[in-house]
Amino acid sequence: MNFKLQIPNEKTYNWNRWIFILFTTFIVFVNCVPYVKKMRKDNLVRVAVVCGVDRVNISGIKDKKLYKNYRISLDNAFPMYFSSNKGVVVVNERKYRGNLEIRKTGERLWVINILNIEDYLKGVVPCEIGKVSKNLVEVAKAQAVAARTYACAHLNQYQNLGFDLYATIQDQVYKGIGCENELTNRAIEKTKGLILAYKNRPIEAKYHSTCGGKTADFNDAWSGNPPPYLKSVNCSYCQNSPHYKWQKVLSKSEFFPEFRSRLKKIGVKIPDDELIRSLKLIKNKRSKRVIKLIITTGNNEYTVSGYNIRTVFGDNKDSGGLLKSNFISIKTKGDKIIIEGKGWGHGVGMCQFGAIEMARKGKNYKRILYHYYSGTKIKKIR
Ligand SMILES: [Zn+2]
Repeated sequence: MNFKLQIPNEKTYNWNRWIFILFTTFIVFVNCVPYVKKMRKDNLVRVAVVCGVDRVNISGIKDKKLYKNYRISLDNAFPMYFSSNKGVVVVNERKYRGNLEIRKTGERLWVINILNIEDYLKGVVPCEIGKVSKNLVEVAKAQAVAARTYACAHLNQYQNLGFDLYATIQDQVYKGIGCENELTNRAIEKTKGLILAYKNRPIEAKYHSTCGGKTADFNDAWSGNPPPYLKSVNCSYCQNSPHYKWQKVLSKSEFFPEFRSRLKKIGVKIPDDELIRSLKLIKNKRSKRVIKLIITTGNNEYTVSGYNIRTVFGDNKDSGGLLKSNFISIKTKGDKIIIEGKGWGHGVGMCQFGAIEMARKGKNYKRILYHYYSGTKIKKIR
């Protein structure tokens, strides 16, 4: 049989190969592009460290003059600005980096600490993750990236009040220089400027103490459009947390009056003559969280959903009056109501006890973050 040997013509390009190379280069390039966000000049954040008071004591420099423990009341002229003395300003004996703005809003004083985001994190990370040992530096890095991301995503959040973040659990706990430590400062420096991004925007980096074996879906705690990276994932790392499993036992005579009054607070009014016959818990199949509570009386049915579930089962003995979590089941035994629960906090995003254990097992901060915020990318702000 005759056949002609095909020799590739040198002048003919192998287009498939070139397309492959170009495509790969493009992908690598896209992944290396740092996230560019319009941060303010010097990457400043504005944190409300004192809110709604009628007097405050400040140490710092104003109009080139050093003031020590200067008492400011509503009678002064506002806004007032203090810059740092050797890098430090003092508000009611608590030391902060950066500068201060004192505003009068609603006939009350607000003290706003204005500082570089990296300095802000130094006073946040140790408060949020607690004391960590040298071998757990990766968890401090993970917390630093999560906290930096949270701050970036909430710039201008309270624009009408003139600041970005509260210094409390409402945003992130920030206590200034006094709570800083060397290890967390190093973790912040090692991750300088890094945030978690989804579609090139900083994510809603939610985190909580202990998930109890599975993190929660966004809608288990809040309503609205759920970000794709805040969905329930398994967590086999937080079993050593003191909040992993818990129980709350109440007598029926203790439970029901409190339950009714808390229902009233969230707008569910059950008349006193209607006897509560059953409580039905509807759970999210994936995260096992209670997403709806159906209360049946002789005549009616009432529903409670979302965060309110933690409110109606919580009491004054719980922190903030909230039940530890909505990862619960309820049973009765004689005169007792027994709430069996797992985890502490809303359960969404990074489980801090889980993250600590991951670091202990040798996982680096990227592995930790990608586990809890699936589909996100670490990028650099500038
Ligand atoms: Zn966990």
